[in-house]
Amino acid sequence: MKLATNLNRLGTETAFSVLAEAKALEAKGNPMIHLGLGQPDFKTPKHVVEAAKKALDDGHHGYVMSNGIPECRQAVTRWIKRRYNADVDFERILIMPGGKPTMSYAIQCFGEPGAEIIHPTPAFPIYESMINYTGSTPVPYDLTEDKDLKFNPEKILSLITDKTRLLILINPNNPTGSFVEKEAIDVLAEGLKKYPHVTILSDEIYSRQIFDNKEMPSFFHYPELRDRLIVLEGWSKAYSMTGWRLGWSFWPKELVEHVNKLLINSVSCVNAAAQFAGIAALDGPDDSIDEMMVKFTQRRDLIHKGLNDLPGVECSLPGGAFYAFPKVVGTGMSGAEFCKKAMHEAGVAIVPGTAFGKTCNDYVRFSFAASRDNISQALENIKKMLG
Ligand code: PMP
Repeated sequence: MKLATNLNRLGTETAFSVLAEAKALEAKGNPMIHLGLGQPDFKTPKHVVEAAKKALDDGHHGYVMSNGIPECRQAVTRWIKRRYNADVDFERILIMPGGKPTMSYAIQCFGEPGAEIIHPTPAFPIYESMINYTGSTPVPYDLTEDKDLKFNPEKILSLITDKTRLLILINPNNPTGSFVEKEAIDVLAEGLKKYPHVTILSDEIYSRQIFDNKEMPSFFHYPELRDRLIVLEGWSKAYSMTGWRLGWSFWPKELVEHVNKLLINSVSCVNAAAQFAGIAALDGPDDSIDEMMVKFTQRRDLIHKGLNDLPGVECSLPGGAFYAFPKVVGTGMSGAEFCKKAMHEAGVAIVPGTAFGKTCNDYVRFSFAASRDNISQALENIKKMLG
């Protein structure tokens, strides 16, 4: 078989191989605490599930518009207005099968040899994978240069060249759990006004998982940048809907037609029942989000203290999402060695930092989307493992 060379440049999501290895050990009778994959461990809210059931009962079983049913796109614009007081054209909203397609479609819109794409490292690994796949040049900004793993607006602006086409921002970030507040985003947005050739892809999928009552500094707050703004959002994290494969994104007007074609060439459309569920989620009460955040805050505090109490482990305070990203080099192990030992000796599945970026040899990622009992037990097991 003669295969396309581009295939060799595709990366993957290591969290799925960690899960496979952990499941195999479990099947052999080894107990395992799963702190690997990043998904909320709550049920999808009842009224959301009911809306999907009703849609199926009402006969919404066929193909629908590739860019999303208008009712769902309108619900998204209402949500944007309510949360960020921004009026956006609903034709610029596309419904996607999850948040992920937006990253690969956006990178396919701009990526080709000679094009530069600025991206955070560490980051959700699909970004770098897709940049490499398209043959464009990845231009990383390293979050590990900051003790709190936050990005620096001036550093990002200094990386822009004539060849830059796309700037990727993830806030709050996966895997670091770091959250950059509005003052720094204001500086970045102001600086970006000088570079009209750069499109911004703002991954805001964790916008509802921000701690300590801080506000989400969405890029919807900067109308002057909106013509060249892509916002990646969705239901996966906020409403515990990762397996529904439902997301939405906002696009520059001139990209809508191209991205719609990419949708038609790949997935056709998102099933209507999921979209009706999505409308119920956005228009419905936020009680489930409030309850989830009470739990996530308790877990965040528990894991942050617990990790810092371990000998040789240092962890900054996660400001958003549900990940802790400690440096473990003080234990005498690399992140990969630490993860291997944690899986085999402590029965704890976590992901090595290098799964998210080359500069993260000393780090590991814990997802704290797990019960407090499980988090406490995992910390205790790792403490024993470290002697
Ligand atoms: N962006 C980031 C930063 C993520 O961490 C994830 C999922 N872990 C996604 C996007 C993709 O979300 P989805 O599951 O909706 O495709």
